[in-house]
This record gives sequence, structure tokens and C-alpha cells, in this order.
Amino acid sequence: MKHQPLLLITIDGPAGAGKTTVSKMLARKLRYEYLDTGALYRAVAWVVRKAEIAPEDHQGIGQICELLQLKFEAGRLVANGKDITDRIRSPEITMMASAVSALPVVRKALLDIQRKIGKDLGLVAEGRDIGTVVFPHADQKFFLNATVRQRARRRFAQYGKNGNQTLEEIEADILRRDKNDSSRDIAPLEPADDAVLIDSTEMTPQKVVDFMMSTISNLGIVC
Ligand code: C5P
Repeated sequence: MKHQPLLLITIDGPAGAGKTTVSKMLARKLRYEYLDTGALYRAVAWVVRKAEIAPEDHQGIGQICELLQLKFEAGRLVANGKDITDRIRSPEITMMASAVSALPVVRKALLDIQRKIGKDLGLVAEGRDIGTVVFPHADQKFFLNATVRQRARRRFAQYGKNGNQTLEEIEADILRRDKNDSSRDIAPLEPADDAVLIDSTEMTPQKVVDFMMSTISNLGIVC
């Protein structure tokens, strides 16, 4: 059987662009590992919240990061020995993740963790700065985007009906996060120069994955 190279594939983009759905589908198709880096920032937010440390207390957050033990076990996120997978998706933790993600001490701690996870694997990693900062030498980079209204609609379909946010509130949160994530000094949300840009507004996840697979097939794997 022909030996297939193990690729490192990055998918960056703003909230609601479809990164998670598409990254999981692509990883399954390629039989690669999948890394959700947003979950790591959410974990920091959760630990900070749990320790009742104020988002402005950068020293306190720094100490938390120094001691933080984070790992994925069978798709579950474990922080300091506790499975927090189902606790990190609330609107409060979401906004807090966006706030703590601007702190250099947080980004540095998570950079090491992400690079360790990505070592020697076939990997699909999604986030905001994966192609620009975490894995600048990735084999293939994508930047996925969609209109803000469409991204809010997707989030609303995912959480909104059972949650307590209206479509308009979700859209406002997304806009705030876009602004935070794009305007921070370190590792802002932006496409890598060599990323392939995809606008998913009018595309199904399957269509996006098919397009990605056709791009990846140029790298010498049999799709
Ligand atoms: O992707 P997700 O919405 O779960 O990310 C939550 C927050 O974590 C983002 O709004 C962003 O502030 C931060 N993040 C980041 N860099 C990444 C992934 C996520 O700053 N690579």
C-alpha cells in the first residue's frame, strides 16, 4: 500500500464560520487527530472564573496558567484533573475566553501545550492563530469566514433555542468577539499569507470539506 504523508492542516477563522463542524469532518475523513484550540482558551476562562480571579488580575491569571494541566482524553477536555467539556460553552465563559486570550501570559502557556499536542501527528487544528503563530509551517492552511448574520444564525440554531440568548444578542456577542480577537496586539485573528480563503456563507459543511479535500489532494495524499 502506498505510504501516505501525515499532514498538519490548520483552519482559522471567526466564531460561527463553521470551523468546528468542518474540522471534525475533515479529520474523520483523513483519519487524523482533531484539535479544538478554542476549547483551551475556554478552559483558562473556566479555571479563572472558578478561582474567582478578576479578568483584570493579570498576575493572578499568570499564576493559574503556570500551574494549569490541560489535556484531551478521548475527546473530553480535562483541566487540572476535572472533565470540563460540558461547562465551557456558556455565553459568560465564551466572552471571558475572548478577554483572557488577549493576555501574553495565557497565549504563551497555551502555545506550548498546542505545539506538544501537534507534534508528529496527522492533525487538523482549528482556531484563530494556528496558521499564523502556532503552526506557521503547516502543510495546508485554510481561513474560513462567513457573513456575521449567517454566523449568528448558525450559533442560534446550535444553542439559541435552548439557551437564553436571542439571535440579535448572539450577533452582538459575535461582533464583540470579532473585534477583540482581531484587534489584540498578539496573535490577532487574521489569515496567514499562504492560507486558502473560503467564504462558507452559502456553502454546506460537506461542500467546504469537498473543496478542502480537493485542495489537499495537491499535496500528494490519495483522497
Ligand atoms: O473557537 P472558540 O469560539 O471556542 O474560541 C473561544 C475564544 O478563544 C475566541 O473568541 C478567541 O478569543 C480565543 N481563541 C484564540 N486563539 C485560538 C482559539 C481561540 O484567541 N487559537
